[in-house]
Amino acid sequence: MSKLIVQKFGGTSVGSIERIKAVAEKTLRARNKGADLVVVVSAMGGETDRLLDMAKEITEHMDRREVDMLLSSGERISAALLTIALHAIGCPAISLTGRQLGMKTDGSHTRARIKEIDGARTKKLLSENHVIVAAGFQGINEQGDVTTLGRGGSDTSAVALAVALGADQCEIYTDVAGVYTADPRIVPKAKKLNSVSFDEMLEMASLGASVLQIRCVEFAKNFNMPIVVRSSFRENDEGTIVCRENLNMEQPVVSGVMCDKKQSKITVKGAPDNPGIAAKVFSALNETNISIDMIIQNMSDDGLTDISFTLPTADSLEATKLMEKVGKEIHANNVSCDSDISKVSVVGAGMRSHSGVAAKMFEILAKEHINLLMISTSEIRISCVIEKKYAELAVNALHDGFGLSSDSSGDTP
Ligand code: ADP
Ligand code: ASP
Ligand code: MG
Repeated sequence: MSKLIVQKFGGTSVGSIERIKAVAEKTLRARNKGADLVVVVSAMGGETDRLLDMAKEITEHMDRREVDMLLSSGERISAALLTIALHAIGCPAISLTGRQLGMKTDGSHTRARIKEIDGARTKKLLSENHVIVAAGFQGINEQGDVTTLGRGGSDTSAVALAVALGADQCEIYTDVAGVYTADPRIVPKAKKLNSVSFDEMLEMASLGASVLQIRCVEFAKNFNMPIVVRSSFRENDEGTIVCRENLNMEQPVVSGVMCDKKQSKITVKGAPDNPGIAAKVFSALNETNISIDMIIQNMSDDGLTDISFTLPTADSLEATKLMEKVGKEIHANNVSCDSDISKVSVVGAGMRSHSGVAAKMFEILAKEHINLLMISTSEIRISCVIEKKYAELAVNALHDGFGLSSDSSGDTP
């Protein structure tokens, strides 16, 4: 039986007709080596934002079902264009939407979770010798309505398809050469990592390394599907392998410094300091599928307390409205939202066996006169919320301070 490979090409990689033609050539080369191929595509670079901006010109308060109808069209366009490009060079291929791929999700529009994939049609088409070009980022709910998987969701489509179809390999092609010690667009001295463990990648993705969507890493970890991240513009590059164990013999204590500028902080002020108040706040949020990260509850003052938490800025409008409603129910004084923050984090599996990383991080930030607004830690990461204007300074200082920078030009993206 031939090898089944799932390849995913992101927005920049299919950003123009020339690039789509180049992806078609790359696909044909892989096929000529004897592999069966499922090629997952994102919308052409900038297209999802363009569609969203058009809707925002009408109103900021959009019905999320209609947002999904709108945004899913971007991936349909690139899937059809790539298929046409494959036909033009003599390669049998067929494009499939989320529905045609049997990608069944829950009903949470704009951030749906995949429940099940019915791969029967895809398998049949593969056995008939077609390259499958899959529109990423989309599925259908129980009613048959289009859903989308959250920004960056084509990564998750690719890994989920790889798992469902029993693929031998899942390759994510993007506009950088792999996973780096920091975002190479913010930290020029960032270095490419050859290997990253699922656990490290989960932390990195949740802390701002947008190179892989967090859900895709969760899937890969749960089903032990290794992912190779590579540049779509370079041939024969090794990229980064994301798998169960970090394959490097020598593990540094800190393997990466992440930065997320798309975070906001919501504070519910003056809530009664009674049992069950935090449960009310967070169970209301839980029902919306909005993911919350850092949580702080201040010391009680006159029987009142403040609860703050961070969340993606994209969800902050909806969450603020929800908190205003919950705030009234629990008799809190007011709800505020601050989007002028960033979260900077250091991540590394080596931290498990080393102490002093937090102290060092705080020292490095103090030296740059950066104030810490919130702090949280896990076994393999430390995160600080700071003012947004210091984000670049903080990441570069931490990258240098933890010895991740090389003064040689290193591996450029
Ligand atoms: P695609 O459209 O291919 O899905 P994305 O823009 O979603 O591409 O992800 C690739 C981008 O992720 C890179 O251009 C880079 O700026 C950013 N990025 C952030 N953190 C990292 C990191 N640690 N390593 C590599 N890239 C990163
Ligand atoms: N097009 C979608 C986005 O821009 C999904 C993706 O690119 O993975 O978020
Ligand atoms: Mg992406």
